[in-house]
Amino acid sequence: MNRRIVYLLSGLAAVFVIAGIVSMAIAWTKVKKWQPVAARVGSNEVIRFQTRKGTMHRGEIELMFLLKDMRYRIPVSLPNAFPTFEGARDDMRRYGLGTTQTILYNSEDPNDILLDIDPQRFLIVPAVTMGAGVVLLVICIFLFMRMARRVCPRCAATVMRAQCFCHDCGFPLPIRVDTFRQVI
Ligand SMILES: [Zn+2]
Repeated sequence: MNRRIVYLLSGLAAVFVIAGIVSMAIAWTKVKKWQPVAARVGSNEVIRFQTRKGTMHRGEIELMFLLKDMRYRIPVSLPNAFPTFEGARDDMRRYGLGTTQTILYNSEDPNDILLDIDPQRFLIVPAVTMGAGVVLLVICIFLFMRMARRVCPRCAATVMRAQCFCHDCGFPLPIRVDTFRQVI
């Protein structure tokens, strides 16, 4: 393995780890601003709309909640659309009229809410980036250790630093030289 490639890989690993840490910190502040609140379903209806595939149906609900003496009414379109009215109605059953739902609101702007989404998932990409960086870093450390080992110039067996002769072929090893550097 070329020494320059290993340096390049180490740099890449460092970039991944730093990018992972920075994006994790940003994602974490975003995750923390979502707070749970009990919201009541104020209305629910199935709406019909046209797409290129034909007529589709989707549930539309209105969520109401109180926050610091302020009342919020937030209309929400359910994410799934169905070709039949019944499909959309069944999908909407979870949000029965008058039922209470625990939703997450954005503490900086309560009109912004999350329904059926776990904000923890915003941490997945930063965690994967950081993990990839750490794995790459471990590989680089292994490659550096491999490059730093002492090799017999005749038979290429790995020899200890203190040895004067190769244990494999008996070749006399230079005493003053610590490592045999690879020539690029
Ligand atoms: Zn040897």
